Amino acid sequence: MFDYSELDIDELKAWLKEQGEKEFHAKQIFSWIYEKGILSWDEMSNLSRELRDKLNKHIRLPMLELVKMTESNDRETFKFLWKLRDGSLVESVLICSGHRRTVCVSSQVGCPAKCAFCASGQQGFFRNLRSGEIVEQILQINKWLSSKNEKVSHIVYMGMGEPLKNYESVVKSINFLSNPDYLNISQRRITVSTVGIVEGIKRLSSEGLKVNLVLSLHAPNQNIRKKIIPYARKYPLEDIMEAMDEYTTKTKRDITYEYVLLSGINDHPDHALELAHLLKGKQCTVNLIPYNPIPGVRLKRPEKKAIKDFRTVLFGCRIVNTCRYTKGVDIAAACGQLAMQENQAKLPVIEDNDD
Ligand code: SF4
Repeated sequence: MFDYSELDIDELKAWLKEQGEKEFHAKQIFSWIYEKGILSWDEMSNLSRELRDKLNKHIRLPMLELVKMTESNDRETFKFLWKLRDGSLVESVLICSGHRRTVCVSSQVGCPAKCAFCASGQQGFFRNLRSGEIVEQILQINKWLSSKNEKVSHIVYMGMGEPLKNYESVVKSINFLSNPDYLNISQRRITVSTVGIVEGIKRLSSEGLKVNLVLSLHAPNQNIRKKIIPYARKYPLEDIMEAMDEYTTKTKRDITYEYVLLSGINDHPDHALELAHLLKGKQCTVNLIPYNPIPGVRLKRPEKKAIKDFRTVLFGCRIVNTCRYTKGVDIAAACGQLAMQENQAKLPVIEDNDD
């Protein structure tokens, strides 16, 4: 017995042939799974009973079981908690904004990066997700959206995990999601967020993909970075910035830098000046995220005035920046990672660029 996600369409055709079945069923099956999000053989009504029995016997569907779905009061943010076959739990978050239906997917169970401000990082790392487990987060949410005649339009690899530490599965999933035979989501609508895995960034820049890249920067210099991001000891900021430049040059994609503002750590106007210096001349945007405290972590959110002063310096240096307030959401803020705790997705993300 094997999983449906292990087969591409040609492999499925070959399997059908082996079973004495017609190859054209592969297209029907792919349409059920990847267009309609149907993950039950018995619901594939244009397949014969005999074929459905064979499929039931040999190919497993689905890989994720929905444990719980919670929604924010404004019904714009929906959090899906999934159980994997081995009992591990991961989550995806659907954010509905205008016509956009953005899904934040998890790429690992837990996270090896252990960033000081992140709930996912505090839990430790359990395992990488398989590409099928990543893709199925989208398939199941597409199915859920289909009742409203809607579809996932954008994907961000910002859920649980460091995507570039699960490189092969993440790239394989991007190829699946963007392939016209599968979900046909433009790579320009797919974003990968990393804490700065240098070899992963370099590899991604040579992959021939057109995905957006976000660096979870969070500090204007190596010293501060080392204090809040353990991986910074392994990946010096200078090397990361060089790899990011290489990504821009090779892919022609703009870069976004995320910066979680932590009171007394990285929120002084001098830090803003240093940040502006670091990013001088780069085609980029800085997303500032005032920190929301999480239990057991002694980090604080800056006062509004400190945030305002920080932004004033950036604006003065012509650094494009936005500030995203996450009311009560324990967003594993840095990577923009949406963390685990079940109440988090109930609360809305508020754009506040005037403050
Ligand atoms: S912020 Fe991102 S990279 Fe850091 S521990 Fe959390 S999930 Fe991992």
